[in-house]
Amino acid sequence: MSLSHPLLYALPLSLLLSSCSLDSVKPDISPSDSVAITSPIAIASTKQILSTLAADDMQGRQDGTVGGKKAAQYIEREFAAAGLSQWGALSSYQQAYEIEGPEDTIATSNVIGFIAGKSRPDELVIFSAHYDHLGVEDGAEGTGKDRIYNGANDDASGVTALIQLAKYYQQRNDNERSIVFVAFSGEEAGGFGSQAFSKLIDPDNVVAMFNIEMIGTPSKWGNDSAYITGYDKSDFGAILQQNLQGSNFQFHPDPYLDKDLFYRSDNATLAAQGVPAHTISTSKMDNEPYYHTVADEIATLDLVNMTAIIKAIALSATSIVSGDSTPTRIAQQ
Ligand SMILES: [Zn+2]
Repeated sequence: MSLSHPLLYALPLSLLLSSCSLDSVKPDISPSDSVAITSPIAIASTKQILSTLAADDMQGRQDGTVGGKKAAQYIEREFAAAGLSQWGALSSYQQAYEIEGPEDTIATSNVIGFIAGKSRPDELVIFSAHYDHLGVEDGAEGTGKDRIYNGANDDASGVTALIQLAKYYQQRNDNERSIVFVAFSGEEAGGFGSQAFSKLIDPDNVVAMFNIEMIGTPSKWGNDSAYITGYDKSDFGAILQQNLQGSNFQFHPDPYLDKDLFYRSDNATLAAQGVPAHTISTSKMDNEPYYHTVADEIATLDLVNMTAIIKAIALSATSIVSGDSTPTRIAQQ
């Protein structure tokens, strides 16, 4: 999640410091869950992927740094191992592009994987998350102080979901619509990765976008729940909830409307073009003490609940991926 609306840089973000419950409660797996979803989405896999992305040797995954490139290469290897195809005319899983910074131009890339749809290959369902984060804190060198913005929640948690979902759908091998998996860079700097990606596709072909941001801590409603930004702008959320019938997982409308979250992540570019593009999150934006601090580490996250959320996202997408439901479009701005 970027700090502000790209168009409202001065938007203040109040962060209340308070302790965060790390209690792990056993995941509530519904009967349909256990039938439909097998090994690719599992706690051990969540831990393995997340600990790789949020490790100190990724150096905070900042655009244009060694750590940023290392993260992109890791995601690329995971996409290849999952057996995903490359996107269109790209010669690798990476889409290189440049960010024009105030002082210099930064070369970075999105990582994109693809599974062609069986019967409706031109209709795209996008799953996305951003792998870039804030790098290493300036100053305090040599003090022994932790300076690495590991970004375990923001947004290694979303990329962990993305990689598991890619493996899940590749293994199922039954998607009627095509699925695009995108790990964006350039998000924290202002949504540049999703802007670059949007140039590769015709928004009219995109049926839905599931952008996943900060799902590592339980939501304000507790376990087995998450919220969807821009909930009322399409019937995307209602469709997701319908697909979860029989489970106790609950998607809620974004409760932090004053924070403008709908406009502060990578769904915003395609949403502005009419795509039902929403962000799924559990982040308590009024009470997430490690948000954008060097303490956003894997030890602060609840991997059991997070894995249950990833399973719920997979289940909730069922009728969209199969072509049985199509969310309404978002009114263009
Ligand atoms: Zn962020």
